[in-house]
Amino acid sequence: MQRVNFEVQRERLIESELRNLGVRDEVVLRAMRVVPREEFVTEELREFAYRNAPLPIGSGQTISQPLIVAHMAEALDLKPTDRVLEVGAGSGYAAAVLSRIANEVYAIERHADLAEAAAERLQRLGYDNVHILCGDGTRGWPEHAPFDAILVSAGGPGVPQALLQQLRIGGRLVIPVGAEKDSQQLLRVTRHGDDQFEREELGPVRFVPLIGEAGWQEEDEQALPAMSTAEAKARLSLPEMIREAAEPFSSIDTADLQPLLKRIGDARIVLIGEASHGTSEFYRMRAEITKALLEQKGFDFVAVEADWPDAYRIHDFVTHRQRDEPHDWEAFARFPTWMWRNHEVLDFIHWLRDFNLDQRSPERRAGFYGLDLYSLFTSIHCVLDYLDRVDPAAAAVARERYGCLTPWEGDPATYGRAALSGQYRSCETEVVQMLRDMAQRRAEAAVKNGEDLFDAQLNAQLVADAERYYRLMYYGSDESWNHRDTHMFDTLKRLLDRYGSGSKAVVWEHNSHLGNAAATQFGIRGQLNVGQLCREEFGDAVYAIGQGTDHGTVAAASEWEAPMQVKQVRPSIPDSYERLMHLAEMDAFFLPLTKSKKPSLKSALEPARLERAIGVIYRPDTERQSHYFHASLPHQFDEWIWFDETAAVDPLTTQQSAEHEPPHPFAVVDR
Ligand code: SAM
Repeated sequence: MQRVNFEVQRERLIESELRNLGVRDEVVLRAMRVVPREEFVTEELREFAYRNAPLPIGSGQTISQPLIVAHMAEALDLKPTDRVLEVGAGSGYAAAVLSRIANEVYAIERHADLAEAAAERLQRLGYDNVHILCGDGTRGWPEHAPFDAILVSAGGPGVPQALLQQLRIGGRLVIPVGAEKDSQQLLRVTRHGDDQFEREELGPVRFVPLIGEAGWQEEDEQALPAMSTAEAKARLSLPEMIREAAEPFSSIDTADLQPLLKRIGDARIVLIGEASHGTSEFYRMRAEITKALLEQKGFDFVAVEADWPDAYRIHDFVTHRQRDEPHDWEAFARFPTWMWRNHEVLDFIHWLRDFNLDQRSPERRAGFYGLDLYSLFTSIHCVLDYLDRVDPAAAAVARERYGCLTPWEGDPATYGRAALSGQYRSCETEVVQMLRDMAQRRAEAAVKNGEDLFDAQLNAQLVADAERYYRLMYYGSDESWNHRDTHMFDTLKRLLDRYGSGSKAVVWEHNSHLGNAAATQFGIRGQLNVGQLCREEFGDAVYAIGQGTDHGTVAAASEWEAPMQVKQVRPSIPDSYERLMHLAEMDAFFLPLTKSKKPSLKSALEPARLERAIGVIYRPDTERQSHYFHASLPHQFDEWIWFDETAAVDPLTTQQSAEHEPPHPFAVVDR
């Protein structure tokens, strides 16, 4: 009965875990399919034999994790005729796997009781091409050298010389090496000639220490705590840990948000990220969380990754502000229109308009603002429009100054290049002067309690920052990125100041702006972002949420300004956080990271992995290079929301937009 059970478990481990975690070599997978791991562990741990985890085997030692055995076997690139040496035979499991691929396996174990048990076990199971020796494997096994491949299953401070000498020319040696006794880099050394060795680093690993003449001292082994049986039983694989810590939900509408709201506590700023700009679930979930924050925690406003003047149209609409004159320009008309003109956003802003009317007094209405800076000319237009109304003389001066930028209205990016190359003069002085003038205007001079002045001042700020942005673009992507995110953060701070001390904001942006950049590969090269700046300035008063998916569809373009398409999102790749979440085998869940009831999850997820970011552009063909980056998820976010399968947002058709009349923010305006 039990055998059948183990076989099913073994098959599951290989097909749904090892293969999904990136083991590709069919020969290795086949070998692992025929070696019964349950025979290599003690009776009481047999039921855990097919967890992808190390387990204790006595004498303070462990049987290696199946994934690492598979990766090392792949790295050895074995042929059926090969003679292999393993140092650190332990239970004999890895040797047994290697013996199903190669011709002969010689395995050395320093602990006599383990060596004896391994030899007896292998003989009983019929592995007659495996030979066990008790001794110090750092000296190798000269009588049977040279070897085509050598595997060292314990971590040493360096590569033992004797092993290099016993490697045949053309042979491969795989060994964990590290200055610390309990963490190493996996190295592959290939011998190309008598004294020619090529070294490759294969990634970080964690092995028990290699003890011996060319390894660590015997005392070093005792200094490290051995894994107990109880610990091993409690120890779960990463997808199992995720499963255990996750709070699953079956639909966005019915998801219980109370545990999340509790974790958010008194945070002043809640950042809600998304892994693409075109996924319906991300839009709907952030809307539901935002509604709860507005209703139950008195949040003051929503700030989003949209341009200030366009989002201000939504602000006017949801706060029921009346304008004297209708707008003569259309909001959200620029690429990527689907990012805001979609049914998910529409539903939210209609809800917010009703909420403000029913539940907030006119002076406490929840606002809606844009933090981004891609509206240089619309913002100029808005400043001029404001001055025309309140101070026509100042409007004339402003027209003159902003006139410097007029030739570039069709393509502001070329302005930056022309200004930098000296072909055209920089307009910096003019826009900065305008910003100063606007900043000096007092609220008394403004109409409607200073709100119009505030709007105009923010537009003047945007013009100055955008002017600089287009020049910085030509210095490199990091400079302009940092300038843009600093602008977004400064705008958020101005809003918080305006709403007063203790005011609270919800921020909607892409994960790449909101997950702390310092915990990503971009942070290492000097990029910062809104999430990092918030964290640095507001500390624990920030709660950052990211959202991700494995597969489905997404609304995105193939290049900038190209039409929107509904594209297939590829299943996530091995080595990514997304793949781990997928392996947890749940459709949708909240995963608290920094406030988890299972604190071990945070440390388990800390080592950097790949993470996927789809923007308004998605290029599945070059996905690994274009869309994946390295990050440490629990240092980016406090919480992660997962949807295994997702669908594209539902954009408004031209006809649906045309159904809206001004002052609706999505109304179509005839120029
Ligand atoms: N490959 C083993 C298996 O499948 O069960 C697991 C290996 S365990 C992670 C590492 C083993 O290396 C331990 O059993 C340890 O006693 C052994 N070891 C450490 N230093 C050694 C040395 N110099 N020579 C031989 N064995 C050594």
